[in-house]
Amino acid sequence: MGSGFDSQAAQLSARGSMDRAPDYESVGCRFDSYRARFFYQVIMNNHKHFMSQALKLAEKAYQQGEVPVGAVVVKDHQIIGRGYNQTELLKDASAHAEMIAMTAAAQTLKNWRLTDCILYSTLEPCLMCISAAVLFRISLVVYGTEDPKFGGCVSLANLTQIDKLNHKLAVIGGIQADKSKSLMQAFFRERRDENQKKSGDNHE
Ligand SMILES: [Zn+2]
Repeated sequence: MGSGFDSQAAQLSARGSMDRAPDYESVGCRFDSYRARFFYQVIMNNHKHFMSQALKLAEKAYQQGEVPVGAVVVKDHQIIGRGYNQTELLKDASAHAEMIAMTAAAQTLKNWRLTDCILYSTLEPCLMCISAAVLFRISLVVYGTEDPKFGGCVSLANLTQIDKLNHKLAVIGGIQADKSKSLMQAFFRERRDENQKKSGDNHE
């Protein structure tokens, strides 16, 4: 009897554990996915925050009649380099926001190796800037909207993951893409209108 009871109890207990096991698993899964989602949100909010800073610089470029691209370099949650496009002002085709931001960051660190640094740019970095990011040893590139004309991450080529390069970049695109895209569209629309007005004036 005793052993029968024990064995029945053991069976019930085992069944009980088995019955509850999926609950525990699902609770565990829920907890893990909640935690993963939480950290994902924190990281994405960080990216959005720093992209907002880059967007402010892009607006500054816009106000100065430059193609509105802004960039910041971040290390340990601190901005250590800022830049916005200045090709017209400096008469320099290489005066892109990212180049200026990375050079400024290297000056801040007094080191050209920007290890563990994140480059945020409102526009997909061009072939030149992404090559420079590799040389500067940037760890992660985060950009806003894609650049179908010169983009060196996905649009024209992917220079971030070339096998023979000893340094590879991680890339995240599409952060605040709508804002950087609408800024670019507004700038080029304005330029087009101005050019049309000028050619109209010339015909009068
Ligand atoms: Zn560039």
